Amino acid sequence: MSDDWLTGPILEQLSSGVLVVDEEFQLVYLNTFLQRHSSVQLTEAKGKSLFKVFADLPEAWLRRKFASVLELQSPSFSSWEQRQYVIKLPHLRPVTSSSQYMAQNCTMLPLNDPSGRRHVCMLIEDATDAFVYQQHLQTTLQKLEQSNRVDGLTQALNRRYWEEQLKLEVQRAQRYQQPLSLLLFDLDKFKQLNDQYGHLGGDCVLIELTARVRGLLRDTDWFGRYGGEEFGIVLTNTALAGAMEVAERICLAVSSKAVTFNEHSIQSSISVGVAQLDAAGERAHEVLIGQADMALYNAKREGRNRVVSYSAGETEFQLKTN
Ligand code: GH3
Ligand code: MG
Ligand code: MG
Repeated sequence: MSDDWLTGPILEQLSSGVLVVDEEFQLVYLNTFLQRHSSVQLTEAKGKSLFKVFADLPEAWLRRKFASVLELQSPSFSSWEQRQYVIKLPHLRPVTSSSQYMAQNCTMLPLNDPSGRRHVCMLIEDATDAFVYQQHLQTTLQKLEQSNRVDGLTQALNRRYWEEQLKLEVQRAQRYQQPLSLLLFDLDKFKQLNDQYGHLGGDCVLIELTARVRGLLRDTDWFGRYGGEEFGIVLTNTALAGAMEVAERICLAVSSKAVTFNEHSIQSSISVGVAQLDAAGERAHEVLIGQADMALYNAKREGRNRVVSYSAGETEFQLKTN
């Protein structure tokens, strides 16, 4: 007894695609799901070349797949993760997915008709839900990674991430024998500023000034918040003279323009310490921070709102006095 009564309605109701071609890639069957999503009617497409009916198919790849299914007489599988879709079909979730096409898992099966002629049946399963879920997961992970690197108030890199980058850049500079410099800067009399304008005023100054500084840097520089009102900038491929120029520019950009907060015009300045990498070994980045910090300390001692470089051989006992 024929099983048509069973298979017919099931194939029509299935929420997966079923497509059958013969050895010459001529269409033999398309179920309702595929006809509905592709707007191709079986009555019109039957007997025509699969690649004429669906012009966007990855023809070379499909021919290879079908040939191996026919030859080995065993199924083959293609997941949406390898190839997002085989047949370009619109999906029903245009808002939740960035792709307009249905993600598909495809199974290709060998199939012989009653007279023994060989066919390939392709089962197409809609995997858009998994695709959309994976996309969300990816964007969430990216955002998480980003927020893990960045200081929430100023959007400068946070200290942990910034120090990691400093360490890596120091290693790179040592390996390729390229110069590298470090700027450390600290806002002058920030305690007073907070007392005068309140913490929100102080925050506003930090936000505005860091944005100003960022605008003066190159993409390859690493700008991080080292402490409360203390920041560090790693200048890759930059020797001391170049770093001093950048530091002067930053110093001027801060002091030459007040920050507006509510009705107030808040004047501020920074002191900058500059050092060029010269230490070797594992702890070179720590030595460099120490040197830039010493220069920063001297900039404060010399009257603030200025740039001071670290001089080789300087130790804490030889700090300049006013
Ligand atoms: P100096 O010129 O010697 O650096 O003086 P200073 O007052 O800036 O130095 P000090 O280190 O004594 O004070 C730093 C102040 O920065 C104290 C702290 O309340 C303030 N501060 C640190 N982080 C933040 C922040 O995120 N927001 C605000 N508004 N203030 C902050
Ligand atoms: Mg300060
Ligand atoms: Mg400070």
